[in-house]
Amino acid sequence: MKDKEQRKIIHVDMDAFYAAVEQRDDPRLRGRPVIVGGPPASRGVVATASYEARRFGVHSAMPSAQAYRLCPHAVFVKPRFEVYRAVSQHIRAVLGRYSELIEPLSLDEAYLDVSISTACRGSATLIARDIKQAIRAATGLVASAGVSYNKFLAKLASDLDKPDGLAVITPAQGPDFVAALPVGRFHGIGRATERRLLALGIATGADLRARSRDELVGHFGKAGAWYHQLARGIDERPVEPDRARKSLGAETTFATDLDDPAEMLGQLRALAAEVATDLARRGLRGRTLTVKVRYADFESVTRSLSFAEPTATYADLEPRLAVLLARTEAGPRRVRLLGVTVSGFETAGRGQGLQLVLF
Ligand SMILES: [Mg+2]
Repeated sequence: MKDKEQRKIIHVDMDAFYAAVEQRDDPRLRGRPVIVGGPPASRGVVATASYEARRFGVHSAMPSAQAYRLCPHAVFVKPRFEVYRAVSQHIRAVLGRYSELIEPLSLDEAYLDVSISTACRGSATLIARDIKQAIRAATGLVASAGVSYNKFLAKLASDLDKPDGLAVITPAQGPDFVAALPVGRFHGIGRATERRLLALGIATGADLRARSRDELVGHFGKAGAWYHQLARGIDERPVEPDRARKSLGAETTFATDLDDPAEMLGQLRALAAEVATDLARRGLRGRTLTVKVRYADFESVTRSLSFAEPTATYADLEPRLAVLLARTEAGPRRVRLLGVTVSGFETAGRGQGLQLVLF
């Protein structure tokens, strides 16, 4: 953060990512409504819908049965997370050519801080265009990008022109953009908070801006101070690259809850393999292994153990998975999500793995 006023942040977001990968890999799916997620007969949910399916009102997190009613001729496809993860790594390698300051948010989304980048003569807009082309060349997939002076606005910008979008919100445009924004679109404002704000007569950024910090803190505590900042287009959160990470993990939500411990263990092994690969690529070794279990009723628990020496290998992680899983109530209680995380990184040798993906 050399100069807070002059930051240039890009938010890259793949368009309908899982569905786009499926359409890329199976030409029969192209041009058709594709729904990646649980089958309609299950109580599964939509992970991603292709744009053809979205036209019928289908969207992520919608129950598959409802998606089927809206779009009965859609093709339902089981998610292939290993493939999505592999594609995601290609995308991250592309991003690594443009900045060392990359913060992945999920498999298909990342922030880049290109404030000090000399690529494209330092033009963040041209860098974003270049990144879109490079991602398409490397993966055959389409990304949208948003460019702005902070994370909050860059993320909103990437959504403005989707799909295949490239939108810029300049420091001069920021305040007007925020003023017109419905409060539900603000970072960290979910449904419940949105309802509370509306009840207070606060519907837009302009309404929010008209309230004092004290009033907002009075209603919403610490979050109120955050809303007060956002209403002015201010967001000083840094882009936090991998090396600033405290942990690295992977998790999967299942289209149908699991009740078979053997299947859960298989899923944990796949996640651990992914985490081990990620750790190796980034040159990280950690001391603590954590397994996360979310039961069907959404209660979550974590179980951890520590190694005598920091490690990054699957061979070290794998035998501990069953031990940690056995310390939960998974099995007797059905499971909707599993996660594996490694934390407690040693500090030496940071960035070794990252260099491999930089040109
Ligand atoms: Mg996306």
